[in-house]
Amino acid sequence: MPWPELGQQLDRRAQQQLLRERDNWQSKTATTVTADGQELTVFCGNDYLGLAQHPEVIQATRDACALWGVGSTASHLVNGHSEQHDRLERELAEFTGRDRALLFSTGYMANLGVISALCNSEDALFQDRLNHASLLDAAKLSGARSRRYQHCNADHLNKLLVKSNARRKLVVTDGVFSMDGDLAPLPDLLNVAENHGAVLMVDDAHGFGVLGTAGAGTAEKFGLDQQQLPILMGTLGKSFGTFGAFVAGSEELINALIQFARPYVYTTALPPAVVAGSRAALRIVQREPHRRAHLCRLIDEFRHQCREHSIETLPSDTAIHPVLLGDSALALKVSEELRCRGFLVKAIRPPTVPSGSARLRITLSAALNVQDVQRFVAALSESMTASYR
Ligand SMILES: *Cc1c(COP(=O)(O)O)cnc(C)c1O
Repeated sequence: MPWPELGQQLDRRAQQQLLRERDNWQSKTATTVTADGQELTVFCGNDYLGLAQHPEVIQATRDACALWGVGSTASHLVNGHSEQHDRLERELAEFTGRDRALLFSTGYMANLGVISALCNSEDALFQDRLNHASLLDAAKLSGARSRRYQHCNADHLNKLLVKSNARRKLVVTDGVFSMDGDLAPLPDLLNVAENHGAVLMVDDAHGFGVLGTAGAGTAEKFGLDQQQLPILMGTLGKSFGTFGAFVAGSEELINALIQFARPYVYTTALPPAVVAGSRAALRIVQREPHRRAHLCRLIDEFRHQCREHSIETLPSDTAIHPVLLGDSALALKVSEELRCRGFLVKAIRPPTVPSGSARLRITLSAALNVQDVQRFVAALSESMTASYR
């Protein structure tokens, strides 16, 4: 043990019912995981459109792998950037209606890269209180003064902006909040930001691919163009079912990121085969709007079933539907009961969510069907009853 305190910290976490544990799944399908002979239907992943196991995505990845090998072998600025990367960047720029896009190896790194490249200690960052951890870490890395406004509260943002005399101001929000499923009020935030000469950035990890008529995400849903929303970040590991992330915006923004975003410069580029898989996923997102329509149908069915069983979920129109339980031990218990009934939903506990707001984060995927949702909500109802006994 490097420090004696580590053991105590671990013990404390366990006592507080906050210890995180991993499962070693032995196999996976688009809707299930299996271990030790038990098969669980998954209601907690981020594969919202069911693309992670799509034959076309797998084939494209396989073909590119045969052609390009596995690793990209270096960073983008050495010899890691291929024609595959270039094509996906162009396709993502076109899809999001931006001048250009830049691939990052993960969404976490994209957020670190953008914010640390654009802000330093002379600048001010304004973040929603429930923003993703990577955005909060990005603020630390940049050294910018960071303020957090109340969740989705444009008035509170306005109050903080009024008080700021920073040289440059960046307002950052999740498009869809990852643990709550609600949408940021982008038009209100934009309005306030514009009044104070602040720039808006959206992390659309959970909106990209799912929201908007074409699936281009929260920006499309609210009709925000590049001038209104100059910094758009999206990820490929969620609704696209692959891996990686991108930032889309002006020519100048992308050129600056290539020079100054350290998590872009100093890391190995995404494997070309993964990029080819993402290109296939994009083609499917564009070609098959019925996947989004089916997901909407499942969301409606889920809410209907919850009403029938008197289960309260947080208000959400997206694929993410939290059941707030408050107590971490209770959240673990309900999760365990669901597992006994053949369903996987993990208990989300602090510090991922604010203390006292442990929850089940239930997600839907277009790979599921209406009967799956009906069986799931019946099991959820039983599990909650069993846990409150
Ligand atoms: C998942 C997520 C990220 C990180 O993306 P990765 O590609 O998994 O690193 C960033 N922001 C939000 C809101 C997310 O949900």
